[in-house]
Parts: sequence; structure tokens; C-alpha cells
Amino acid sequence: MFELDTAEIYIPDEVPVDQALARTTHLCLAAHQDDIEIMASAPIITCFQQPDKWFTGVVVTDGRGSPRDGIYKDYSDEQMRLVRFKEQRKAAFVGEYAAQIMLDHPSKITKDASQPGPVRDIVTILKATHPRFVYTHNLADKHDTHVAVALRVIAAIRELPPKERPEKLYGCEVWRDLDWLVDSDKIGFDTSKHESLQAALVGVFDSQIAGGKRYDLATMGRRTANATYFQSHDVDTSQGIAYGLDLTLLTTDTELDPAEFTQAFIQRFAADVATRFQRVGSTTTKSITGL
Ligand SMILES: [Zn+2]
Repeated sequence: MFELDTAEIYIPDEVPVDQALARTTHLCLAAHQDDIEIMASAPIITCFQQPDKWFTGVVVTDGRGSPRDGIYKDYSDEQMRLVRFKEQRKAAFVGEYAAQIMLDHPSKITKDASQPGPVRDIVTILKATHPRFVYTHNLADKHDTHVAVALRVIAAIRELPPKERPEKLYGCEVWRDLDWLVDSDKIGFDTSKHESLQAALVGVFDSQIAGGKRYDLATMGRRTANATYFQSHDVDTSQGIAYGLDLTLLTTDTELDPAEFTQAFIQRFAADVATRFQRVGSTTTKSITGL
């Protein structure tokens, strides 16, 4: 089914593969094991225990280059790969995903736009799942592999006939949050419900947390911070928010350049900062050089 024989599909409730994939309504494609649980808790919660809504996760890379410490310190790349696959299966079981796909592409291949493998695999997945909503990394993320995966997802969706494309594509938060977007550009996903389930989902990735990087606390904390700081005057209505960037336009307008599209959001942020100074007054006119 996929480019590599080592790719795998894990189906927690063991229904046949075709059936498991076809029931998908919400699909998340991520670079690494644990990225899904960091950036896409909202669709996981939305689908949890819902007979007509199913979440499928896709991890594009193999996890071989993962950082390691503590009990994992002396693990080889292959041992790390197996640990990370196992952790991702655990999350899929806890979150009751429709399916969890691991494509097993090396990071280097994923980052190389001339390599057709990852896009081919994503097209295969889109045709088997026909999701309504798709989630991936946001295009202003600071991890090259994350942005590469987002670009491969956009390329794959563009290969589908317009009628078969998902209704929505969202870019989500991992290595860089989206708090900097002007509020009108923010898509806020409410993550108030099932807080302990969310904590469990990020908590199973022990190999990444064991080295002292508390992704579990940081991820839950970011959702709380987003909710608290969203409106400066209102009482919190949500206990948690994850931000998304609506990337759908890049799937309907296939000529649109993702780099230029992303710059437009940054320019609106720059304009927002500049107009605030105009409003409240700037006290000096000397220009700064050398910054
Ligand atoms: Zn990642």
C-alpha cells in the first residue's frame, strides 16, 4: 500500500484496514511520533467515543534520529525507532483512533522536495480516508521537517480532483505557537474537555520526556495560556485552546505560493504592532540602525 515495506498501520479496535481507514472524518499528518498528540488534541477529543466521527493519525518520519537520555541513553537508532513506534501505538489505543499509520520515511527524504515518496503515500492515505478535516504542522513552525511535512500535505491534496479535497486544512502548534497571529487570523480549537485524556496522550511518550523535556506539562500549559491570554478583558470561557492557521486556501488555489501565503500573516502581525504605536503615541523619531 505504501512506498516502504516497513510502513505500518495500527488499528486499535482491529477492524479490517479498508473499513478502518474509510470511517475517518478527521485526519492528522505529522512529522514525528508525539507531534499528533501535541498539536491535534482537539480533533482527537471531538472524535472520542463518537460513532460517526473517527480520527486517524499519520506519522511521516521514522523516529531514528530522536534525542535520547535516561534509560534510553544507549539505545541505537533502530531501538529508538521501535520505542517511538510503540509509544505512538499506545497513544492511538488511548485516544481510540480509527487508525495510526507510520510511513517510516527518513527525515532527510521527507525534507527533500525532489523525493516523491512521502507525497505519494499521503495521496494514497487521502484516497483511502476521504477526511472532512485535515490537520498538519503550521507553515511558520521552526522545525524544518515539520514545515516539509506541511508542504508535502499541501502538494498531495492538490493532486486530488477538487471535489475529493478535504473541506478544511489547518496548520497547528508544535515548535512555535500561533499566539503571534492577529486575533482575526486565529482559529481557536477548544480543548476544555477530557483534560486527563489529553494529559495521558502526551504522557505516553516517555522516551522524549525522560531526558527532562517536559513536553507533557508544556503542551497542557500552552493550551491553558492560549485560553487565558486570548481576550485581555473577558473572563475565560474555555479552559484550554489550541491555535490553528487555516491553510485551506492553499488547497483550493493551487497556484498560491505557500511561502507568500505565510508572509501575509506575518505582515498582518507587523501591521498590528505598528498601528498600536500610532494609536498610543511613540516618543522618539530617531531610527535604529544595526538591528
Ligand atoms: Zn516533531
